[in-house]
Amino acid sequence: MVNRFVLASGNAKKIIELKEILSPLDYELVLQRELGIEDAVEDGLSFVENAIKKARHAAKASGLPSLADDSGIEVDALKGKPGIYSARFSGSNATDELNNRKLLAELNGVATEQRTARYQCVIVFLRHEFDPTPIICQGSWEGRILEVPQGKGGFGYDPLFYCSEYSCSAAELNASQKHEISHRGKALLQLKHALSNATL
Ligand code: IMP
Repeated sequence: MVNRFVLASGNAKKIIELKEILSPLDYELVLQRELGIEDAVEDGLSFVENAIKKARHAAKASGLPSLADDSGIEVDALKGKPGIYSARFSGSNATDELNNRKLLAELNGVATEQRTARYQCVIVFLRHEFDPTPIICQGSWEGRILEVPQGKGGFGYDPLFYCSEYSCSAAELNASQKHEISHRGKALLQLKHALSNATL
């Protein structure tokens, strides 16, 4: 029975969401930063490859089971960009604000109905570094990109992500509203089921 695992992420806002959604679990989550583990190199070409790389890196460095999230936003008018490059969309010194500005600039002049987009989240759980059967869960969340940022909650592209479920931006939702419908909430719900049925 696993009772301690490492969370393979250095993104503080993402960590808060992962912990909130997973909090009813009986497992103790240790942050890789607390164990002195640096972020993994994310040079995969898909969310699942990058999530496996992150999880394997943390499992190898810690000797613990690991959980990683690789996520991003796909914008249809940009042929799926920024996708796996969402965190670094505006370059090596990217911030959420610069990324949002770049997204708005690239969509300048694009009509409302063509601004469709979705968040993607892949969660990978590895029992150990060489686990040949990782638990892989995926969730997505459909929306569209607003023309001006709205709201102060969430992180990343949330102020620009309009969700029709609540007729507001993702940054205007409270945490439990977001987790109930988000890509991360859906992927982690699958993980909870998988963990409760798995032999660990
Ligand atoms: P990762 O840490 O390489 O997986 O990058 C994820 C990036 O995707 C984040 O830095 C955000 O830019 C974006 N992203 C993923 N999930 C969310 C979300 O729930 N809200 C807003 N942006 C997100």
